[in-house]
Amino acid sequence: MSAPRAVVVITGTEVLGGWVADKNGPWLAQRLGELGVVHVSTVVVGDRPEDLVTALSNARDRGVELVITSGGLGPTEDDLTTRVVAEFTRRTLALDEALEGRIWSVLEPMSKRWPGVDQAAVREANRKQALVPAGATVLEPIGTAPGLIVPPPEGEGGPTIVVLPGPPSELQAMWRATVDLPELHAAIPGAERLQGSVLRLFGIPESDLAGTMRAAREEGIAIDDLEITTCMRRGEIEIVNRWPAEADATGRAFEAFVADRHGDALFSADGRTIDQLVLDGLRERSWTVGTAESCTGGLLAGRLTDLPGSSAVVAGGIVSYANAVKESALGVPREMLEAHGAVSAEVARAMAEGALEALGVAVALSTTGVAGPGGGSEEKPVGTVFVAVLARDGGLVRRLRIPGDRAAVRDRTTTAALHLLRRVLAGERDAA
Ligand code: ATP
Ligand code: MG
Repeated sequence: MSAPRAVVVITGTEVLGGWVADKNGPWLAQRLGELGVVHVSTVVVGDRPEDLVTALSNARDRGVELVITSGGLGPTEDDLTTRVVAEFTRRTLALDEALEGRIWSVLEPMSKRWPGVDQAAVREANRKQALVPAGATVLEPIGTAPGLIVPPPEGEGGPTIVVLPGPPSELQAMWRATVDLPELHAAIPGAERLQGSVLRLFGIPESDLAGTMRAAREEGIAIDDLEITTCMRRGEIEIVNRWPAEADATGRAFEAFVADRHGDALFSADGRTIDQLVLDGLRERSWTVGTAESCTGGLLAGRLTDLPGSSAVVAGGIVSYANAVKESALGVPREMLEAHGAVSAEVARAMAEGALEALGVAVALSTTGVAGPGGGSEEKPVGTVFVAVLARDGGLVRRLRIPGDRAAVRDRTTTAALHLLRRVLAGERDAA
C-alpha cells in the first residue's frame, strides 16, 4: 500500500500578505513526515471563501487523502473556515450546545475583564464557534476555537479535512491531541510512523556529504530505503534521517557510518542542539558563563539565555561595541587596540580576560570581527572574526573567516563561539 498523502492549507490575509510569517505550514510538514504521510504541498490563501474553496478543490483533484487547514476559526466575520468546509463537504451546520457551554466557560471570565463589552455580541460569537458540520469530530478548543475532523461528503470520495486554529501554540497543542485519534487514522490507512534521528555536524563543508553518501552505498548500506535530508543551518550541517521500522538496521548502520567517518565534526546524534549541549556541559561542571561582545552586539548572550534553565549558569554579558567601552568596561589596554586593532586575537583574548574579572565567571566568551558591509581591509576582509573562550586555566582563541552578509556573519559568529565553548568544556586548551 502506498503511503497516504496530504495537502496543508494555510489561511489568513496577514500570512498571504507577508505581515505574519507562516509558522504552521513548516511545523505541520514535520509532523506529517513523522506520521508517514507524504506532504504534497502547502498553499497559502487569504481570508476569501472562494480562494479556500479553490484550494480544497485542487487538493481533492490531486487525490490526496488528507487536507489540514490552519486559521479562520475565530469569532469574527472574516473567520470562515468552518462554514466553507461544511459547504464543501455538503454537511449541514448545527449548534453543538454542550460545546457552546464549554466555550462560554472560557469566554465569560475573559469578557468580564473588558468593561463595556457588548455581552450579546460575545454570546453571538460564542454561538458561531460552536457550529459543527454533521458527522464531524470536534477537537476540543485550546483557546476558544474548537477544531474539526470532517469526513468527505457522504457516499463520495475526497479528502478528510482536519480544521485547526491559526495561532501556532493552539494549532500545535490541538494537533498533539489529534494525532492518535481513530477518526484521523481512518483517513490515512497505511500511514506508518517513521523512526528518526538528527545528526549534527560542524566544521566540514556540506559538499563533503556527497562523498559520504557515495561511500555509504559502496559499503552496502541501502540508503535508498532511508529518507535522508541534509541542510546547512546557522553554520552547521544537519542530517535528518527517517526510516520505516523494517529499515531500522539500515538507519542505524548509516548513523554509525557517519559517526565513524566524521567523528570530529559530529557533535550531536541525540537531537540536542549545540545550545543545549553547552548549557548541559556548564551545568554538569557548575560553571558560570559570561560574554564580552563586539560584532555580535549581545546576540551571543541572547542565545545563551534562550533556553529554559539558563539562569543557573549564565551570569551576564558586556556589549563592548566601541573601543572606549572595551577599555573602560573590560580593561583592554588602549595601546593594544592601537597596535593590533579591535579585530585581533590579542583584543579578543583581552576582552575575555576582562569579562572573567568583571563578571566573576568560570568561563568567558568574546567576539570581535568585521560584520560588514563596510569596514573590511585587505588584511582583515569582511567576515574576519576572532572568538575567544577562556576558563580560569586557559582556553581557545580562533581567527575565523565567515562568508555571507552582515546578519549571517553575526549569527554564525555566535555558533562558532558556542562550539569553541564546547571544546573548552571538553578540556581543550591552547598551548600557553
Ligand atoms: P482567532 O480566534 O485568534 O481569530 P483563528 O483560528 O481565526 O483564531 P486566525 O484568525 O487565522 O486564527 O489567526 C489568529 C492569529 O494567529 C493571527 O493574527 C496570527 O498572529 C496568528 N497566526 C495565524 N496563522 C498563522 C500562521 N500560519 N503562522 C503564524 N501565525 C499565525
Ligand atoms: Mg481570526
